[in-house]
Amino acid sequence: MRVDHAVSPWPLREPFCVSSSRGNRPKQFNANLNRRWWGRLLFDRRGQFLKPKELVRIEESKLRKIVRYAYSKVPLYRRRFDEAHVKPESIRSLDDLAKVPFTVKTDLRDNYPLGLLAVPANRLYSLHASSGTTGKPIVVAYTRGDLLRWATLVGRALDTTGVRKGDIIQNMYGYGLFTGGLGIHYGARAIGATIVPASSGNTKKQLMLMKDLRTTVVTCTPSYMVYLIEASKAEGYDAKTDFALRIGIFGAEPWSEEVRKRIQDAFGLRAHDIFGMSELYGPGVGIECEQQNGLHIWQDEFITETINPNTGEVVEPGKEGELVFTMLSREAMPLLRYRSRDLSTIYEEECACGRYHNRIKRIKGRSDDMLIIGGVNVFPSQVEHVLMNIRDVGDQYQIIVSHKELDRLAVKVEVPTNRLNDTTFAKKIRDDLFAVLSIHAEVELVELGTLPRSEVGKALRVVDLRPK
Ligand code: ADP
Ligand code: ZN
Repeated sequence: MRVDHAVSPWPLREPFCVSSSRGNRPKQFNANLNRRWWGRLLFDRRGQFLKPKELVRIEESKLRKIVRYAYSKVPLYRRRFDEAHVKPESIRSLDDLAKVPFTVKTDLRDNYPLGLLAVPANRLYSLHASSGTTGKPIVVAYTRGDLLRWATLVGRALDTTGVRKGDIIQNMYGYGLFTGGLGIHYGARAIGATIVPASSGNTKKQLMLMKDLRTTVVTCTPSYMVYLIEASKAEGYDAKTDFALRIGIFGAEPWSEEVRKRIQDAFGLRAHDIFGMSELYGPGVGIECEQQNGLHIWQDEFITETINPNTGEVVEPGKEGELVFTMLSREAMPLLRYRSRDLSTIYEEECACGRYHNRIKRIKGRSDDMLIIGGVNVFPSQVEHVLMNIRDVGDQYQIIVSHKELDRLAVKVEVPTNRLNDTTFAKKIRDDLFAVLSIHAEVELVELGTLPRSEVGKALRVVDLRPK
C-alpha cells in the first residue's frame, strides 16, 4: 500500500522531527518537509560512493573541526592535548593525526557515566551502554544529530548488503541498552524497509514469525543463527523451503568464513558481516558489500588506523594491528583515536562494488580474547576456523583452558553418534588444530546437542579455569 503523505489524513510525524526554520507552516507542508528531509538526510546512497579524493577532503575538514570541538568542550581532551604539548590548530591533515593522544576504554569507564559529554545533558536524545562484563558499563550518549547520523550509517550498511524498501527485516538483536537492536531499527527506518522488532531469544516464536511473516532479512549474532540451524530442524521446519530469507546480517562477535558457509547453505541466504561497537554509535560502522570480502568502514565518519598494540605505533595498511577509530562528527561525546582493542587489517585496494571506503578484514578478536596457553597465543576464532572446516564436526564447540603443572587446552566438539568413539577422527581434529595453533589440544567428542547454547547475546565459548 502506498501512502502519499502529503494528502494523508495522518500527516507524517517522524520521531526526529525537524522544525522548519521558516516559522509556522500548515501541517501538510511540515509533512512534506519531513518526507524530503528523511529521504535526503537518511537514505544516503551517494555517501556510499564518494570518490577517494572527496573522502580525504571530507576526512580532513571534519578532523580539523572535531579536534577543536573536543578540545574546547571536553576537559579530558584539553588535558591530554596540553600534556602532550599539541595545539588543536596543528592538526590539519591526516598526516597530523598521529600527534593526537589516544583515548582508551578506561577513559570512558573512569568518567562513568557522563564525564566526557561535550553538550549540556538536556540536549541528549538517547543513552546506551555496553554490556560491561567487568565492573561499570560504558555509557554512550547521542544528540539528535548523532542519532540521525547513526541511522544514516546503518541505513547505508543495510543498503550496501542489498536490503531494500519492501524487505521484511526480523531484527533479532536485543533491544535495550545494547546498541544492536535499536541501531538496526533506526537503519531500517532510514531506508524504509519493514522492521519486525523481534529482539533476542524466544526461538520458537522467532521461527514461527520468520515463516508466517515471510521474513526476507534476518539480523542477529552469527552464533544465534548457527543455533537456528538446529532449532529449525528440531521444530520440523525445512530451513530452505519454509523460509523466504535472502539476506542475513550478522555481527557483534567474531565468526569465520566456514560459519558463513554453514549458515548460507542451511538457509539459502547471503550472509554479511556487520561491525560496530557502542562507543562508535553502535552497529553499522563497517559492512560487507555483495563481494563478501572485507568490511567497508564509512570513511567520511570514521578515520581508521591500525597500531601495534604494544608500542602504539601506527602500522601500515595491509598489516594486522589494533583498530583505532576517530569519530568525525560525534557531537555528544567526541572520540579521538579510540583504541578499540579489536584486531584486524586495513586494506585500501579498490573494491569491485564501486565503493572506495577503506575495508578491514573480518575481526580476528579482541586483544583481551587472546588466550596465552603455555606461552602460545591462541584466538578462539582460529579454533573455530579449523573446526568448522572439518566435515562431520557439529556447529557447537567449547574451548576449555586449565592448568595442571602446565597450561592445557581442551576442545569439546559435537559430532554425530557414529563418530563418538572414532579415535582416528579425533586425531584428525587434533592434527588440524596443531597445524594452525602449534599447540596440542585434547579433543573430546560429545553428542550433538549436549554443549551449552546461548539464545541471547554473544556466544560464550571459552572456559578458562586457570587461577587468575
Ligand atoms: P561490549 O563491549 O560490551 O561487548 P559492544 O556490543 O559495543 O559491547 O561490542 C562491541 C564489540 O563487539 C567490538 O569491539 C568487537 O569486539 C565485537 N564485534 C562487533 N562486531 C563484530 C564483528 N562483525 N566481528 C567481530 N567482532 C565484532
Ligand atoms: Zn565493496
